[in-house]
This record gives sequence, C-alpha cells and structure tokens, in this order.
Amino acid sequence: MQPTLTIDLAALKTNWRDLDRQNTGETAAVVKANAYGLGADRVAPALAEEGVRKFFVALAEEGVALRRILGPGPEISVFSGHMPGDAELIREADLVPMLNSIDQMLMHVETLPGHPFGVQLDSGMNRLGMEPAEWAALREIALAQKPRLVMSHLACADEPAHEMNPRQLQSFREMAAGLEAPLSLAATGGILLGPEYHFDLARPGIGLYGGLPFIDAQPVAYLDVPVIQVREVAPGESVGYGNTWVAKRPTRVATIAAGYADGVLRGMGPELYAFAGETRCKVLGRISMDLIGVDVTEAETLPDHVELLGRHQSIDTLADAAGSIGYEILTALGARYARRYTGG
Ligand SMILES: *Cc1c(COP(=O)(O)O)cnc(C)c1O
Repeated sequence: MQPTLTIDLAALKTNWRDLDRQNTGETAAVVKANAYGLGADRVAPALAEEGVRKFFVALAEEGVALRRILGPGPEISVFSGHMPGDAELIREADLVPMLNSIDQMLMHVETLPGHPFGVQLDSGMNRLGMEPAEWAALREIALAQKPRLVMSHLACADEPAHEMNPRQLQSFREMAAGLEAPLSLAATGGILLGPEYHFDLARPGIGLYGGLPFIDAQPVAYLDVPVIQVREVAPGESVGYGNTWVAKRPTRVATIAAGYADGVLRGMGPELYAFAGETRCKVLGRISMDLIGVDVTEAETLPDHVELLGRHQSIDTLADAAGSIGYEILTALGARYARRYTGG
C-alpha cells in the first residue's frame, strides 16, 4: 500500500484569502514546479475558483500545461521570460513573458510583434532581470510597447529586519519611477513586510502552500505512511543500514513504507520524528530509499500508519530536520504517493 499525500484545497484557498486580505494590491498566485509539487492540475483551478486571475510559472512549457488546465481567461506569466525556441509556446498558449534582458526584448519583438510582455528588473538579487543601466537604455523603447507588468524580486524578504529589503525597495522605486505600467515586487515575504512593498500586484507562492514565512498559514499537505511490519528489538541490536542506531532498551520498531525516493531526505534521519496518533516517535537509523524505521514503543496502540506531515508537524518542521526550507520539502515530495484532494 502506498503512502497517501492529502492536499487540502480548502486550506489553500484560505491561505490565499488571508494573504489577499493583507495585501493592498491585487494578489496573483505562483504555481511553478507543478504548484510547488502539490499538483497544478488541482491547485490552479481551486485558486481560480477563489478569484485568482493572474498566475506565474517559471518556464514557458509550464505555462502551456497551465493554459490547458485553466483554459482561456486567466493571465499566465513566465518568470524566465522569452527564451530561444519559446515563441510558438508563448503565442499558442497566450503567455506573458517577463523579459529579462535586451536580448530577450529583441527576440520577443522580432518573433512576436505586438504580443504582450512584462519586464523583470534586477533590484539587487543578481538572479534574473535587467540591471539599472540596461533598463535605462531600453526603457523608452519598452514603455512605448506598454508592458503588462514591471516586476522585481526580493532576496531577503523572509528576514523582515534585513537591510537588503529597503535597499531593493529603493532601487525598484528608482527604476520604476514615472512608469504607467503596473508594478510588482512582493512574493509571500514581501506581502508580510507591509504596504510599502505591495505596489499593484503581489506574487505569493509558498504561503499559499502552508509554508514560512507565512507563519499563520494553514497546513495544506498531509502525509500518512503505512506501517509494513512491527518487530521487537532487544538491547544491543541495531536498525537499518550501517548499524547507526543500536537499541539501549527493548524497543518496538515499525518499518514504514516511505524513504528518500519519496522526498523524505536521508539527511533528516537523526532529527526526524513521525506521529503515531498523538505520540511523537523517533526515526531510527538511516532512512532507506523506500523504508524508514520508527520507534513506536510509546505508542498507545500498534499503529497501522504514521503521520509525517500534518497536524503535528509542518513542512518547516521537516525542513529544519534536513537543514532545508519548506520549499525544498514540498518540491521534493515524490511521485509515488497516492494523492488525495479534499476541500475542493
Ligand atoms: C518563486 C517566486 C515567487 C514566489 O515566491 P514565494 O516566496 O514562494 O512566495 C515570486 N516571484 C518570483 C520571481 C519567484 O521566482
């Protein structure tokens, strides 16, 4: 029996509404990487039902898939802009590329004259977007074509006190001064930084899916893993590859049906717990590809499954165990789960 990943679409919608309430402008949704691993085919329509009219993806191919899911109407924008070979995809799926460079701008107006676009500016992160000098050279030409959006992205919005935030805000304001185009700077973290950062459109992703820095988010992903076998282990005996865990007392060990192939990262092992009902149970020894040993000695009854994600622990709890972030936990969730959607 497979582990079950349950995705609570009602919680997803609540998270979007809560962020939208805090945001002074329009609130879009970022559904790149298959909606952070949770399934764009169910997540995007649920958000559209809730009133989302603008969606963002990373790649044109993701935009094409999303257009099939959503149908005509919602605006679908592409962060990577217009890359070589994208013209047909952009035209056919009616995508809005966020142009990142002079080269992309030239390619776009040459291959798709009159097709909508946005502009991505680099306000200091040095990842994507036009730098101030590049933008100064292109600004008049770009503006004559009426971009749908002028956007930039914050590098440190999850740390509200970071001096990078006001620095990027200032840089974005300077580059966007005098523009008529709608402006966008904030993702989840930027919404929480306050109204100065909101401009016309915010682009939250992780907060919708229940992750930090949206501390009040409702959990969206629930992961229950079946127990395959339970055994009694005597003091001195070991569990798992490499004998890294040795029993000091008589221990009841459940072997559960998930492993690093399912995104339960091997590095989490020493810090990871699973829940049998209300009982917090230590993971024992190394995480295998498909199997994990769990100490269920203290569980009230012999569990037939344990919880890895849900009411007792969030994606950020798992992330901490791996020295990672909620984003990586979600996008690493494997393809082997039975996926169940509730609240749609
Ligand atoms: C991924 C991404 C977002 C969404 O960020 P979250 O932190 O998940 O809210 C917004 N804008 C850009 C440019 C992104 O790459």
